[in-house]
Amino acid sequence: MFVYETPEHKEHVALTLGAIHDCGSVLVRAHSECLTGDVLGSSRCDCGEQLADSLRFLQEERCGILLYLRQEGRGIGLAKKISAYALQEQGLDTVEANLALGLPEDMRDYRVAAEILLDLGVSRVRLLTNNPAKIEGLERYGVEIVERIPLRMEPNPSNLGYLRTKREKMGHLYPMPMALEAAGRGLG
Ligand SMILES: [Zn+2]
Repeated sequence: MFVYETPEHKEHVALTLGAIHDCGSVLVRAHSECLTGDVLGSSRCDCGEQLADSLRFLQEERCGILLYLRQEGRGIGLAKKISAYALQEQGLDTVEANLALGLPEDMRDYRVAAEILLDLGVSRVRLLTNNPAKIEGLERYGVEIVERIPLRMEPNPSNLGYLRTKREKMGHLYPMPMALEAAGRGLG
């Protein structure tokens, strides 16, 4: 495990598995911190599932990197994320709630992720993600994404609206759009 501290005193983590310089284009997950999903198992979002699925892929591959990026709540921080959750209880979606708080819908920046990869000597990766913005974000800073590997996710009644918003408003690509549609119809 490598810990990178930024000038803003954020401690980002790179957990490497295997001989990353000998396994071709490296399997990478750049995961943004989500206390509620990753640690507490909240079903409001799909972060915990994506993290677990990423670790399974890395274990199967026996080679790769997990970046754990300290940009909670798409970069707005935990307190503001919880405030946004309160607004979502009143019917706003995840994007509208951020905007109502005067915040951008997504403040994440992948510059630090790219810098960490380049520091580790890795510039060609296969990226575990459903988020095209992450591909653009890393490529902008000099990391070539040679393949996107989608993560599995299971829609549930708690995260269905959130997943739909991410797909429709933020361009996320889900590997099971039919399942999402079916679940949506099932819930009316
Ligand atoms: Zn989350």
